[in-house]
Amino acid sequence: AATKTFHSLRAPLPMPPPDRPLSFPAFAFSLLPKPPLPDDSRPALVDAATGESVPFPTFFSRVRALAAALRPRLGVSHGDVAFVLAPAGVHVPVLYCALMAVGAVVSPANPALTALEVSHLLALSSPSVAFAVKATAGKLPSGLNTVLLDSPAFLSCFLHDEDEDTKVTVQQSDPAAILYSSGTTGRAKAVVLTHRNLMACNAARGPASGDVLMLAVPLFHVYGFTFCLRVATSAHTVVLHTARGFDARAVLAAVAGFGVTRLALAPPALRAIVRVAEEDEAVVAGVATLRAVNCGGAPIAAELLGRFSRKFPGLSLFQFQLQKGYGLTETTSGFCRAVGENENAPIGSVGRLSWGSEVKIVHPETGLALPPGVPGELWVRGPFVMKGYLGEKDSTSAILDSEGWLRTGDLCYIDKDGIVFVVDRLKELIKYKGYQVPPAELENLLQSHPDIDEAAVVPYPDDQAGELPVAFIIRRSGSNLHEAHIKEFVAKQVVHYKRIHHVFFVDSIPKNAAGKILRKDLANVALQHISSK
Ligand code: AMP
Repeated sequence: AATKTFHSLRAPLPMPPPDRPLSFPAFAFSLLPKPPLPDDSRPALVDAATGESVPFPTFFSRVRALAAALRPRLGVSHGDVAFVLAPAGVHVPVLYCALMAVGAVVSPANPALTALEVSHLLALSSPSVAFAVKATAGKLPSGLNTVLLDSPAFLSCFLHDEDEDTKVTVQQSDPAAILYSSGTTGRAKAVVLTHRNLMACNAARGPASGDVLMLAVPLFHVYGFTFCLRVATSAHTVVLHTARGFDARAVLAAVAGFGVTRLALAPPALRAIVRVAEEDEAVVAGVATLRAVNCGGAPIAAELLGRFSRKFPGLSLFQFQLQKGYGLTETTSGFCRAVGENENAPIGSVGRLSWGSEVKIVHPETGLALPPGVPGELWVRGPFVMKGYLGEKDSTSAILDSEGWLRTGDLCYIDKDGIVFVVDRLKELIKYKGYQVPPAELENLLQSHPDIDEAAVVPYPDDQAGELPVAFIIRRSGSNLHEAHIKEFVAKQVVHYKRIHHVFFVDSIPKNAAGKILRKDLANVALQHISSK
């Protein structure tokens, strides 16, 4: 069959010629209006919990001073990988920009991970330096050069002579960031994103300025990572949700208090916000500055979209929009965007392709391209597609072919108008509130237990979290291992969202002829069992 590809039509922001040496921060800063910025007194970064704010001139001078200090004071040079294990805070976007400006590679991870989980990531990316805070530094090995963001030594870098010669040549094809994702199979892998990947992701988003953007998404995930850089690319004021856990009322209070115009979150957070709005009319009236909500990272239930638009109808007067975004870590975040009312994207869709994306829908078994309306695996090609998984040739070629097509592992279709629908997930991944839970990682952990012969972990649908991990276990003969013990065994070793929520003891685990676990079958068994309770 002839290959059917769908191209996006929207015009991009200008991209530099690919061979010109240019770092992402230099590119970003070049997009901004030349000094003085539109309004110098606007904050660049705000900590929503403490109210601490960093004005634009300070933001730029901190980035320059820190970039200049990195090599002489902290020993960080071009090509070095810098692991970042810190909660959201105003220093984090400054650090990201400074590191990338000197050609160092930013590698942020979830500060809530356990030391064991952190050690797996360090083995993947081999950083030469880590940036942490006092509360997370204990999870890092003592041999790793560690800089504390909450130490005088780090803060004094902001006073470093910013004019000191920091000339380094950064190519657009150089790695800029390493994020972690399990992709379509197995454990987490180190996703290498280049400076040009980040530029392309930004160009696709188009020009925007003057927004007060609140991020209720973590800064280590591709979603928050790319959105927080909008402080540099679009001169957005970025308000960071820094409190532990998500509190819908606190977020709405911050929206009202800081005059937030755009809120970025994941579907479970949207659900919490809708719930609060349903309980309390005053909350809806209080968010009059809000014009847009970005929601992505996991599927959004149609029922939730309905409740959202019922609860916030008045705000459509203020052009209140819900922008649904679909993408992967491997695509430097979203490459599909639905701009609610403007584009009339139907419920259940993730909208149209953004600039630069070329997409085809492929039959998962035959590999043949499919016509509009027929579901298959979505393959995408474009300047935002990752360079590959660091040090993992086989894993890279399994997801990214020689022509640049990336297999998303998502079952999708595209209608005749070019609107994309995500129907289901073909890959192993479980998503808990947008966080990745790789089943293979939990299976390996479970199989390390002396009383467990075999384990399979699959998703179970949940209202609050989207999906929860549940386990099928074959016990070693004679063992009387029980559910509570298994749950505790896992909980002690993993971050909270990877905990097992239910255990099924079975005699066999269904597999196909090639020995692959039939995950859909198990997920259906789980569904029947739990719903019949
Ligand atoms: P991550 O790399 O953590 O961003 O995970 C990417 C995966 O999350 C995608 O391959 C999808 O399975 C899922 N995903 C992200 N955004 C959406 C969305 N808007 N609708 C449905 N699934 C999504």
